[in-house]
Amino acid sequence: MSVILVTGGTGLVGKAIQHVIETEPEGSKFGKKPGEKWVFASSSEGDLKDPEQTKKLFEKYKPTHVIHLAALVGGLFANMKYKLTFYRDNTLINDNVLYTSHLFGVKKVISCLSTCVYPDKVEYPLDETKIHLGLPHESNFGYAHAKRMVDVANHAYKDQYGSNFTSAIPTNIFGPHDNFELERAHVIPALIHKCYLAQQNGTPFIIGGTGKPLRQFIYSRDLAKLFIWQLREYDDVEPVILSVGEDEEVSIKQVTDAIVKAMNFTGEYDFDTSRADGQFRKPASNKKLLSLIGEFEFTPFEKALEETVKWFLDNYENARK
Ligand code: NDP
Repeated sequence: MSVILVTGGTGLVGKAIQHVIETEPEGSKFGKKPGEKWVFASSSEGDLKDPEQTKKLFEKYKPTHVIHLAALVGGLFANMKYKLTFYRDNTLINDNVLYTSHLFGVKKVISCLSTCVYPDKVEYPLDETKIHLGLPHESNFGYAHAKRMVDVANHAYKDQYGSNFTSAIPTNIFGPHDNFELERAHVIPALIHKCYLAQQNGTPFIIGGTGKPLRQFIYSRDLAKLFIWQLREYDDVEPVILSVGEDEEVSIKQVTDAIVKAMNFTGEYDFDTSRADGQFRKPASNKKLLSLIGEFEFTPFEKALEETVKWFLDNYENARK
């Protein structure tokens, strides 16, 4: 019997893994396998900043495998304002989860990093070898350093104890159950919510910046499948970037057009070019992933966005917003 504990199991990525496990045919590539028990834990089951509560959670479920997603996640503003909180909370959460996994003899842990922990000055495209090649951007250094240390810890656990701890590095994620709070949300959920309000109020839909920057977005339900693959098939300490290809970058203008279409928005929309754009591109390579997984079909961006907008509209009352 395998018990797979998903920390942060109630967030954007955790809910997507639960969806895939529960909707793919049992025994199929990404479906639940016989003898597997999946546990999706929220912070109400235990605050992972606290070692005792972490231990209690592990005592309760006795996991054999852990997908570690729990993190203090926030937008640019929160990251800039609360650097110590982002550093400390994430350091505590990660240390407690890895150390408790070690104490309980967990066979495998996959922790979730992020491409925003990479050095500010780095040669693109990003790949798995470049995480520690320079300081992260000043705006999110608390979060970035805490996350980078997971890779350091994974290597140290392997060297000292032979542990099978590794990590995944997703690019920008979107999908059902995202955080749509205007002040805190990432670009796609923020624009979906803004478009919704413009539609409701009969006001123009204004997008900050020129719309030209390019980003790689991964649908949370595709990412969920990649986590399930990594859990079952990948046994190395080095991280794997989980992303669509560099040739599948999408501009903010394309994101906006897809939202306008999915939302049937009929009002005016415009770009506020007085607002900063951020970096033009920060491409990440998914070559390592593709060389290991072979074939993988990513959901077309527009379809994934349509499903996300539909989820937001159907769940407006209860969505994080
Ligand atoms: P969410 O904010 O949607 O979910 C966070 C999850 O972590 C929730 O289940 C939350 O529980 C849990 N959590 C937070 N703090 C604690 C705590 N102290 N103790 C226990 N559980 C806690 O995050 P995402 O799903 O977006 O992110 C998942 C992972 O992916 C994170 O590690 C993040 O860094 C990474 N990532 C995210 C990206 C994105 O675009 N969203 C991009 C790249 C990486 P509760 O619901 O009870 O609060």
